[in-house]
Amino acid sequence: MSAGTPDSPAIRVLGAEAVAGRRLEEQTDGMELRLREWEGSDLVAGITRARAGDYSVSTNGTDALLEAYGALARRLGFDAVAVPRQVHGTEVLRVDGAALAAPGGESAPAVLLAGRVDGLVTTRPGLLLVSTAADCIPVYLRDRAGRGVGLAHAGWRGVAGGILDRAVAAMTWAGARREDLEIHLGPGICGACYEVDAPVLDALGLGGERARVDLRGILASRALAAGVRAVTVSAHCTRCGAAGLHSHRGSGGQAGRMAAFIGARRT
Ligand SMILES: [Zn+2]
Repeated sequence: MSAGTPDSPAIRVLGAEAVAGRRLEEQTDGMELRLREWEGSDLVAGITRARAGDYSVSTNGTDALLEAYGALARRLGFDAVAVPRQVHGTEVLRVDGAALAAPGGESAPAVLLAGRVDGLVTTRPGLLLVSTAADCIPVYLRDRAGRGVGLAHAGWRGVAGGILDRAVAAMTWAGARREDLEIHLGPGICGACYEVDAPVLDALGLGGERARVDLRGILASRALAAGVRAVTVSAHCTRCGAAGLHSHRGSGGQAGRMAAFIGARRT
């Protein structure tokens, strides 16, 4: 027992050295931060800011969810949106096809509540994928050759369980080649802000009693190990950044949730 040092002056940041990805700053666009470097004539990618409201799936009722996500899809130009009920697991679901036909026509985007999964992939134009977060890392995936997009939610449990590898595998099952994949690790808690103790360090294979951990650094190294060549890392931290984002830790657990999103508009 090394008692007597309640506040260690030199807590290391583990995982940060593994950040091989290029820094990439999402651009502020009113209610959202947008990943302009990925966006083109059809692709849309970004994350809502706190001012856009609370997109929490676990605390909002079904009617509120249908309204909030339907409005988000409409605002971004999509006729359907898939919303996972995240459980800090590693299941990744492919969503495509006829099940998402919008019953209400163009004026009412279809909202699919996609079950207890932490990642979604699709090859369907017109379908927006979302993932909620407030410190956890949104993992954006796209196939440079245009065969699909994906989005996963990675907190420490997801990182430890291998959500990134599951999401990469799901993209390849959907038709993408591994070498054509690009991954962006979006706004989330940074290594300087994320102090954890032994159970989390053990789960991440790092060991020790207490340390700071850079989840995006670990995810970047996992992505490179999985054969993904293009990895970028958001410059924004949900807790210490100034982009107006929800932070679970920064709010003492009172924060709402942001909605990260990606999809290809129907052309
Ligand atoms: Zn920070």
